Amino acid sequence: MSYEGYIRVLCNNGHLTEWDYYEYYNSEEPNTCHCGAKFVWRNDVDQTNCEEEKYIIKLEVDKFNRDKKICTYKIPDKIKER
Ligand SMILES: [Zn+2]
Repeated sequence: MSYEGYIRVLCNNGHLTEWDYYEYYNSEEPNTCHCGAKFVWRNDVDQTNCEEEKYIIKLEVDKFNRDKKICTYKIPDKIKER
């Protein structure tokens, strides 16, 4: 069975975006946030064995923008080793 999963990324401004694994890695465009910033943190979520929960890294909300209904997250210091 082939790998299935998705990538959670945070840009430098703390926006969370989720990408399909293949879309993320096969993209010819540079992967950037809708705000234009580069992604500085990545969390690979492996769904191959239906165990995605254990790969999801909990994020801490930094700010919530009530007008735009967008929250930004604190960027974790380290990418979790596995
Ligand atoms: Zn952004």
